[in-house]
Amino acid sequence: MYVLRSKYLLKDPENVVDNGAVLIDDDGRIKFAGQSKDIDNIEPCPSIDLGDSVIVPGFVNTHTHLELTHLHKCIESDGIFTNWIRQLIDKKNGWSESKYALSVRDGIESSLKSGTTTVVDITRNGAALNELKTSKIRKLLFFEIINFNPDTAENTISDFKKLISGINTNDLLSIGIFPHAPYTVSERLYRECKKISNEYNIDVATHIAETEDEIEFLTKGSGHFVSLLDDFNMLNNWRCPQQSPIKYLNNVGFLEKGCILIHCNYLSDEEIYLIEKSKSNVVFCPRSHEYFHHEGHLFSSLKDRNINVALGTDSLASNDTLSILDEMKFIRSHYQDIRPQDIFHMGTIAGAVALKMENRIGMLYPGFYADIAVIESENMNLNNIYDGIFSQSSECVLTIVSGEICYDRNQKEMFDKC
Ligand SMILES: [Zn+2]
Repeated sequence: MYVLRSKYLLKDPENVVDNGAVLIDDDGRIKFAGQSKDIDNIEPCPSIDLGDSVIVPGFVNTHTHLELTHLHKCIESDGIFTNWIRQLIDKKNGWSESKYALSVRDGIESSLKSGTTTVVDITRNGAALNELKTSKIRKLLFFEIINFNPDTAENTISDFKKLISGINTNDLLSIGIFPHAPYTVSERLYRECKKISNEYNIDVATHIAETEDEIEFLTKGSGHFVSLLDDFNMLNNWRCPQQSPIKYLNNVGFLEKGCILIHCNYLSDEEIYLIEKSKSNVVFCPRSHEYFHHEGHLFSSLKDRNINVALGTDSLASNDTLSILDEMKFIRSHYQDIRPQDIFHMGTIAGAVALKMENRIGMLYPGFYADIAVIESENMNLNNIYDGIFSQSSECVLTIVSGEICYDRNQKEMFDKC
């Protein structure tokens, strides 16, 4: 058991405590979070004094591909998404298992360094699975499913079942199924993925409504995706569904009982209604959205409709860092009418809600996992704590997952005597 003490403590987006402290129990959960003076009456134990910084809930990165970390700045974007995909396939071609493992390892390290305590990672064929399983960060591993041939959909599902059969889930590790996108997954396979998610009681998510090309492909059966899939001989017997992305997902039953929808960059009013009705979650990836020069995202309107909108970094193949703190700073500087509390909510609680973990992560209250980040900034003050947290110079100095220190910038002997 030990105590973190700091000038400020943010228990949730709306609750700042002056001279705060968090008591972390041996089981990795929070026993107390509140004013420092109140903790002294509980019981004496080692204490870490963090000075003028702020203790906050660890950040939740609700969409990333850690295995692509080593593709940072390797792909050039000419504004055509399918050209980006072609380069991605080409660059990854021939990567060994150890290359994937190193990429994942660096991705985890960089996530922890930026205060992220939970990652929702997409893994292809379980590459670097051991690296992921043994890492100290909390993670939901989504297994990416790709197969556009409906005749072999069942084989793909049986491969998925084999792949996950040896994985023991635990507090730090859960798994899910991730049909990649409507241009790489057949309608039949989408239905099978949804069926498996219900049968195994696991999360299900997909990339959707990401580009205008995707809409053209699904509604008219033309455009860049047709050329891409043709080059890979994937279009045999395909019939265009003539539906926009969310309507298509709704018609294949994918939205039933909710799911996690990555991107949703282009939505009609009717599609927003379908997302709202199904209580599905949306993940917005702000800087990746900027990288691809998409039109302004509708996240604020979605939030107004009580749709849960979480944040993701996506991979370093379309972003500069794996930091949710950087994503929140980006929103703060680009969308000035959004309250900072709401931005912080998107980087913490909204991710927890999407993962159905809102009673365990995303806030600092007794019984929650001690998933914590400590942020240092020159501009910190009690009246507007977010000026400090979202200032360009703010930095994560300490990251804790389930009570275990996973990153310490100063790496000094921290504990005071009892
Ligand atoms: Zn993605």
